[in-house]
Amino acid sequence: MCGIVGYVGKRQAAKILLDGLRKLEYRGYDSAGIAVRNGAENAQVVKTSGRLKALIEKTENGKNIRGTCGIGHTRWATHGVPSVANAHPHVSGNCAGTGNGPVESSVVGVHNGIIENYAELKAKLMSKGYSFYSETDTEVLVKLVDYYYNKYRIGPIDAINRTMVRARGSYALALMFTDYPNQIYAARKDSPLIIGKGEEESFLASDVPAILNHTRNVYYIQNHQSARIEEDRITFFDLNGDEVFLPETVIEWDAKAAEKDGFAHYMLKEIHEQSTAVRNTFNSLVRESAIHLEDFGLDQSILNGISHIDIVACGSAWHVGVTSQYVIESLTDIPVRVELASEFRYRNMPITSGTLVIVISQSGETADTLAALRKAKQAGIPVLAVVNVVGSSIAREADYVLYTLAGPEISVATTKAYSAQLIAMDLFAIQLSYSKGFITREKYSYYIEEASSLPEKIERILLDKERLQWFSSRISGQANMFFIGRGLDYSVCLEGSLKMKEISYIHSEAYAAGELKHGTISLIEDGTVVVGIMTESSVMDKTFSNMIECKARGAYLISLTSADHPVPDEGEIDFQITVPATDELFLPSLAVIPLQLLSYYTSVNRGLDVDKPRNLAKSVTVE
Ligand code: GLU
Repeated sequence: MCGIVGYVGKRQAAKILLDGLRKLEYRGYDSAGIAVRNGAENAQVVKTSGRLKALIEKTENGKNIRGTCGIGHTRWATHGVPSVANAHPHVSGNCAGTGNGPVESSVVGVHNGIIENYAELKAKLMSKGYSFYSETDTEVLVKLVDYYYNKYRIGPIDAINRTMVRARGSYALALMFTDYPNQIYAARKDSPLIIGKGEEESFLASDVPAILNHTRNVYYIQNHQSARIEEDRITFFDLNGDEVFLPETVIEWDAKAAEKDGFAHYMLKEIHEQSTAVRNTFNSLVRESAIHLEDFGLDQSILNGISHIDIVACGSAWHVGVTSQYVIESLTDIPVRVELASEFRYRNMPITSGTLVIVISQSGETADTLAALRKAKQAGIPVLAVVNVVGSSIAREADYVLYTLAGPEISVATTKAYSAQLIAMDLFAIQLSYSKGFITREKYSYYIEEASSLPEKIERILLDKERLQWFSSRISGQANMFFIGRGLDYSVCLEGSLKMKEISYIHSEAYAAGELKHGTISLIEDGTVVVGIMTESSVMDKTFSNMIECKARGAYLISLTSADHPVPDEGEIDFQITVPATDELFLPSLAVIPLQLLSYYTSVNRGLDVDKPRNLAKSVTVE
């Protein structure tokens, strides 16, 4: 899930590569490196371990490396510890173990992904006289290209194609060949890669924000395709080496959207962008007081044919699935199953006809979710994708796509993409319910009206953020936290708890409130923070009782309720959070906002790197 970049043109490459890597650092940040060529000279390779900052310092922000053609990488280690030797770029020669300086190798490359049969390939290459300086699968890949390149002497595309036939796994690959100055070669299978075209310059990157300052015209290279990238021309090839035509896509995202814009962190900025993300997503699906899923291929007859839904996703997107399960099952009689993509893809699951599989992914590149989509399609089941990135693999392969219009999300911990997914799924549920005759026209209009009020209510919650900022210092020293709730509130607990633990490193658990006494209540001790989410009025009293049980064992209680259903006994609660009232089905969209803020400020108070929590990366393009 690393980030890769490439540049060829008339400008100095190093600075452009470093700027691009800065935009991709959310994808991986345990080491980084660049390789730059000045005309026909050998590539100059510079690598550092740790954050990108070290590479920027070492290269004096690119000033001490000259050349107009180069590739770069920020790593999220899969094979081999984070170290300079394992950092990319990797080279076909043996000179660059801790590799800084000019290299004699015929091939130098960067890679995102995993080569599953790297051990077998490595043994083969060793028997042919290759030796290895790193523990990575990537060095094997680069040397395999070198092997075919030197054996057949037909050229880079032939060598890359032979490598693609032999290598199993996933890769986005960018290579430079010493014999081919001012050219970058690229190939991909299952890892994201885009190629951008500017005026007398070309780019490649794992994700759009890396090149948005330079161009909006991009190509999405397909699986098992390769490309030759020159400053004035980009040529694509299939696995046979035949030239193929790829259409150009124009990216609508605003370059500003990928900047911090005065906020201390991307996460805080993205929390504030949620009302816009929700409003834009709402407006893309609703026209003249009606939801128009037919614009996306989901017409009345398709919706009417749905008798079962499987929602498949990972992480926070899976939490959206849990919320949606409650919403869809409240509004229809359609049974909904929510599955983790990493389980779904390997489990034998009877999928009945009439099933719709819904996959949810911000990046549209999540490896497990993509595999789940393919499994469903192989079984002949139609797939609806809810995706943020236009043209991503999941968007391309799904039968139907609802785009969330959240814009680029940079912070590793998702906020605005999550909120946009929630509204997209809510609108899908409302339309499904109405199409199948479960709700009247009046009720349908009422739900759309309520959903349309969410952006303004989100803005109102954000006005109260100082109070949460102040309070977060009270919980920053905690070792453990619990989030409890029932029904829809439980789905919010899952997200609130994940948000807290992933960026503050405070151990936290989400529990269906009724489950606590079946074991976990033994973990409650003096001062343990218990957040009780009670926006669903029908089960509020039950959850409140569970909170009181915790208090009897020393817990510090935080309540989260809506304005029209306050806590039954305020005197028992240590800190109250209230969100504006709306129909209870949509309260998760509001309840999550203060929990995001609480996590954010707690992480800041603890002095942590909010946008890049340790060991995590944003779009998980490996299994
Ligand atoms: N498998 C490669 C490595 O461990 C690439 C990982 C990545 O995508 O960052 O170096």
